[in-house]
Amino acid sequence: MTSTSSWLDEDLTFSNDAKTNKKTPFYEPIVNGFESGYKPHVSYHYNPAVSNYHYGVRHPMKPFRLMLTDHLVIAYKLYEKMDLYTPRRATREELLDFHSEDYIKFLETVTPDNVNKFSQVLKKFNIGDDCPIFDGMYDYCSLYAGGSIDASRKLINGMSDIAINWSGGLHHAKKYEPSGFCYVNDIVLGILNLLRVHPRILYIDIDLHHGDGVQEAFYLTDRVMTVSFHKYNGEFFPGTGNYDETGVGKGKHFALNVPLQDGIDDESYINLFKSVIEPVITTFKPTAIIQQCGADSLGCDRLGCFNLNIKAHGECVNFVRSFGLPMMVVGGGGYTPRNVSRLWCHETSIMTNVKLKTKLPDELPFRSFFGPDYSLHPNLGDRIDNKNTKKYLENLKNQLLENIRFMRGAPSVSMSEIPPDIQGITTEEEDAIISQLNRESELDDIESDKRYWINEKDNARDLELVD
Ligand SMILES: [Zn+2]
Repeated sequence: MTSTSSWLDEDLTFSNDAKTNKKTPFYEPIVNGFESGYKPHVSYHYNPAVSNYHYGVRHPMKPFRLMLTDHLVIAYKLYEKMDLYTPRRATREELLDFHSEDYIKFLETVTPDNVNKFSQVLKKFNIGDDCPIFDGMYDYCSLYAGGSIDASRKLINGMSDIAINWSGGLHHAKKYEPSGFCYVNDIVLGILNLLRVHPRILYIDIDLHHGDGVQEAFYLTDRVMTVSFHKYNGEFFPGTGNYDETGVGKGKHFALNVPLQDGIDDESYINLFKSVIEPVITTFKPTAIIQQCGADSLGCDRLGCFNLNIKAHGECVNFVRSFGLPMMVVGGGGYTPRNVSRLWCHETSIMTNVKLKTKLPDELPFRSFFGPDYSLHPNLGDRIDNKNTKKYLENLKNQLLENIRFMRGAPSVSMSEIPPDIQGITTEEEDAIISQLNRESELDDIESDKRYWINEKDNARDLELVD
């Protein structure tokens, strides 16, 4: 024993004893007196096909981060704690619940080969470096959107209390156009579905960027409250999200924005998050919550500028979970794949109420990619100067609490305001949709069993695993 700290770190104990390692479980239950009564049913919605798409070699958005996340979740055996679903693709009709007909038609038709024919409309649809046209783009969109729609349905029919779709969370997409790597807004689609039975829905976004697409979609209504924590200086993408954006008309006071500066650290982020979210929940009284868990707010993100560690990000999600409300959990940004996957695996363990061993399981595929520390919790803080002074954060908090007071309690919803069934689908209709989709695409031809094995295809992609 060389230092006092080494015996305090339980993960170092027995680290050289292979036999003990083998017998030690990957996780242990969290014993928490306050929460012992809450045992939510958790579901995990993931279609492995969604990780096979490529935005382009130099593009920072790497769908294979979802494959890495899934490998971690499986290696830690978290599948023992959740229902696993392989969601079908969203249908065209489902995408049209939010998006315009001509935009969806464009996404369906355009390919890298015929893109020249569309030169007239590329600008109209905001196609360019951020949102390129790539092979299978429409399938990719319908897969991640299908995950969020599936998750919302499991919450509606009571099969889940917490439904997770790490492939979703693409919060920038607009009704008529893509934005910031997002083509279809799966969050809006999930919320529209939940609005069929839930009077009030709270959306919380902790991505580095402002959740502008979701805010815009529900800016005029008091049935969906949107809260976004993000970097803001008026120029940083997408340029919106100052504290004075609070909603319009009936939606006035039902949008809340938390503009932050570079380098915010764990403690100030968690404190601000809790002191804002607690009064939001007790005042607005949501009946369901959508939590967007964008991982670009972590320190060391390729496009990031905050100093958050995985545990701090997770603590925010844990705090939301502690209110015991039906919850949909989605991914979002995150451009350093090895940290994105560590974060989302850690947050999956929070949802299932277990504590994971810090040392990554030996059986983990692509384990070498997580070196040199091979830890679930590398230090990601202290890289960037914290520009958020105590005074700035204090003033911001007071301003936000003032905005929350303006809300004056939860709006009551009369039945006439609940929109008519948007896609009430019977089991037979659902089966018909599935067989139709299966005929249309081989992508759905995936047995979920295969996920427990490292398949050849994954191995062939080893070269991709660079930042
Ligand atoms: Zn982002």
